[in-house]
Amino acid sequence: MINPKLIEQFVVAPGTTVNLKSYVTDWTATDAAQELGKNVIKERAREILEESRKHLDAAQELLYASDTHSVLLVFQAMDAAGKDGTIRHVMSGVNPQGCQVYSFKKPSTEELDHNFLWRYMKALPERGRIGIFNRSYYEDVLVVKVHPEWLGPGQPANPNEKFWENRYEDINNFEKHLARNGTLVLKFFLHVSKGEQKRRFLERLNNPDKHWKFSEADMAEREHWKDYQKAFEEALSATSTRRAPWHVIPADRKYVARALVADIVCTAIQDLKLEFPKVSAEKMAKLAAARERLEKTSNSDNPEA
Ligand code: ATP
Ligand code: MG
Repeated sequence: MINPKLIEQFVVAPGTTVNLKSYVTDWTATDAAQELGKNVIKERAREILEESRKHLDAAQELLYASDTHSVLLVFQAMDAAGKDGTIRHVMSGVNPQGCQVYSFKKPSTEELDHNFLWRYMKALPERGRIGIFNRSYYEDVLVVKVHPEWLGPGQPANPNEKFWENRYEDINNFEKHLARNGTLVLKFFLHVSKGEQKRRFLERLNNPDKHWKFSEADMAEREHWKDYQKAFEEALSATSTRRAPWHVIPADRKYVARALVADIVCTAIQDLKLEFPKVSAEKMAKLAAARERLEKTSNSDNPEA
């Protein structure tokens, strides 16, 4: 487990005004990390990811057995920040029946005809499961804040500040409702630098195996980098709460991002202090009777044999 003191620096304290420039994108470049050395960090990050994967599988089983809570993990980021890879690596040890991943793209006409939270509500994890939102209702205060023309019919052409404040309030109330109903909500902003995004885009362009990953739309959005950073800062400032905290994860090094997310998720589920349901004396007696009966049965298809 990573020292909780170290994790604290990545949590957006409720009520603070976020300046993304004060959060690192490459943790290995910090003084603390330089002392350790890159190879040591890489190795340690691998170990943490490995340990956390095992704990996460056990934690999910307990989540399912205790049947009192669900977990919702929200991932937001600029393009090529590594959302997909992080989700894949962190969740790879968990029983596939215990988790559901939803990737949200541009909303359909039907979705735009409903309130903006509708499509996300339908995708929430049931009790006992871990739900992952690869993009989420935060797109509705991020991408559309940069491009208000994509808000859809029935929405203002030039939304004012109040419009966005109302959406933040809706989101906070929605998350409050989820928390009150037993959903642990954890939110991750994978914080990548503009330079690292360029490097990853170039890799996609230069490597034929990665061509499929490149989209011209990603290039167009890169030109709005500053507007996106601002929209993220505003959203993170308005919606990081004790019950649904935002984490700004340094994402220039994939191994750092994966280890941090895995550790944070594991620790938060363990902190729920879930317990396997207690078996009643009556149930114990039934189990004993079933065992006795089973032992007496034949292994042959023909009971006469
Ligand atoms: P990848 O590129 O890794 O496959 P992705 O999440 O970037 O995954 P894309 O299909 O490339 O998926 O992009 C989805 C697009 O849908 C993004 O540009 C995102 O901003 C947009 N989108 C998601 N939710 C909304 C929304 N509520 N309103 C408008 N656009 C949205
Ligand atoms: Mg994309």
